[in-house]
Amino acid sequence: MRAFIVGRFQPFHKGHLEVIKEILKTNRSLIIGIGSAQYSHTLKDPFTAGERHLMISTSLEREKIFDFYLVPIEDVNSNPLWVAHVESLTPKFNRVYSNNPLVKRLFTEKGYEVNSLELINRSNWSGTRIREKMLRDDSWKADVPDAVRDIIEEIDGVRRIRDLSKTDEE
Ligand code: NAP
Repeated sequence: MRAFIVGRFQPFHKGHLEVIKEILKTNRSLIIGIGSAQYSHTLKDPFTAGERHLMISTSLEREKIFDFYLVPIEDVNSNPLWVAHVESLTPKFNRVYSNNPLVKRLFTEKGYEVNSLELINRSNWSGTRIREKMLRDDSWKADVPDAVRDIIEEIDGVRRIRDLSKTDEE
């Protein structure tokens, strides 16, 4: 079976890594869609698709995981067309993993088998929490794979998020 998962991965964290390991126990390979690929440099989506690609591929390769395909996927302004858009960009897949009600609904309507896998340790392993910690200068490095920590440091990602939070008002 070739499976499909999509997320914004802002940033890729240890919870995502655990879910991917779990999926690969029962599937031959996994297509990882980098969702909302057109967005970057906002507080909700600070990292570019290329930066997220590097975070995920380096983290998985360091774990000796190689049976994955990474596909950046821009949003489209029509939900009924989104699954066809995903299919046009990815290798064929038979099974979808998501906890997002909209994603589940759209793939189910197109006849896909859809499975849910909860992210674990959500009090720490959450993209929103990690971005908030970066903003507040709390410790976030233990929540992401070492490769992600290294890439965020290399691109000065924490300073990017803090700069994005500033306004030009006094
Ligand atoms: P998301 O916006 O990346 O995540 C939504 C929330 O769900 C986040 O808090 C995320 O946590 C959490 N989450 C992610 N995986 C989870 C899991 N396995 N268990 C529990 N919570 C989980 O949404 P997404 O569902 O992961 O990704 C969907 C992508 O598809 C988005 O980029 C969306 O824009 C795109 N999409 C586009 C269209 C369209 O263009 N019309 C339609 C449908 C979907 P973290 O932040 O910790 O990951």
